[in-house]
Amino acid sequence: MTSTALRQNNRRRIYQYIYESPQPVTKQDVARALELSMPTVSSNLQDFLSEGLLSYTGTLASTGGRKPRVISLVSDARFSVGLSIMDNALRLTAVDLKAQELAQQKIFLPFAHTPAYYTQVSQLVEAFLDAHPLPREKMLGLGITFPGIVDREQQRLIFAPTLGLRDVSLEEIRPYFDRYPLFIENDANASGYAESWLRKSTRNLVYLSVERGVGGALFFNSGRYTGDNGRSGEFGHIRLVPGGRLCRCGRHGCLEAYCSTSRLSDDLDITLDEFFTMLDNGNDQIALTWQRYLSHLTDGLAMIRMALDCDIVLGGMLAAHLEKHLDTIRREVCRKTLFDHNGDFLTLDMFRANGACVGAALHHVNDFLSSF
Ligand SMILES: [Zn+2]
Repeated sequence: MTSTALRQNNRRRIYQYIYESPQPVTKQDVARALELSMPTVSSNLQDFLSEGLLSYTGTLASTGGRKPRVISLVSDARFSVGLSIMDNALRLTAVDLKAQELAQQKIFLPFAHTPAYYTQVSQLVEAFLDAHPLPREKMLGLGITFPGIVDREQQRLIFAPTLGLRDVSLEEIRPYFDRYPLFIENDANASGYAESWLRKSTRNLVYLSVERGVGGALFFNSGRYTGDNGRSGEFGHIRLVPGGRLCRCGRHGCLEAYCSTSRLSDDLDITLDEFFTMLDNGNDQIALTWQRYLSHLTDGLAMIRMALDCDIVLGGMLAAHLEKHLDTIRREVCRKTLFDHNGDFLTLDMFRANGACVGAALHHVNDFLSSF
């Protein structure tokens, strides 16, 4: 290793050690853990302190002599912003280097694929930064998610049924947001990425997003599995019922046709919140609808589990209402699979409705952390 590479390697190891350390550390801790000399550790720490990436946060109580100073990560030394575009609203979230949410906002704004819409959205991003306030010089980038298939290699939005878009070049959207490094991604992929980030010990994971659209993302060996054409995880369009209900994709009997949250809201002329309130209040008709819905949802979950044999995170708007139903769903999925007796492999997403925003933002954080 050349001396430059060695220096870079030491810098990366020191930052990573402090980043991953559950509590503040001393210079001595770093030197001991990484088997580095004190002068090497000192000079690197000095650099990080002057760059604002680390700070002194006190001294250790010691028995006489000089008290060792305690060093901590400055987790908001940089931040990244996620923007989720949905058919009727936007979500904005800022996350720091530890994936902690610094600010979030939901704005009702009907989608339109027009210059006026994208101009307004870019102004809303600026207003979000000003309001919280989030200093632009610390911003790593902007991540945008769309509820549709995004082909990042070809830079095209292939299909977004809830937005009524088919085959749009991302170049039509990019110029409105090019003030910042930009990353554009499918919403379920981004949510899944956020979940896999939190569960670093989980090697394999399927994320199933249940909203008006049903989609998902697969992570194997801690990396995303995109498929040969970038279209993996389209669980919503697996045919569940031959000759069944018409799906928005134009085919019949898809999982999405049965498990879209529209089945529990728009189709009944109520909101999803109202549905679950009525369910809690013992409404018989609602309970019947829920039973039918769950039967299809657990069919889908059991197929995923049987095919992929890994943890499944259930996310999207539906997941926010599932806390008290999770045990029932786990039992039912186990009943429908061949090998499972314990449904712990199925969990709810941790970021709830903000997952897509957080995941899109985290791509820039990941780039930053990999840059050392
Ligand atoms: Zn379909």
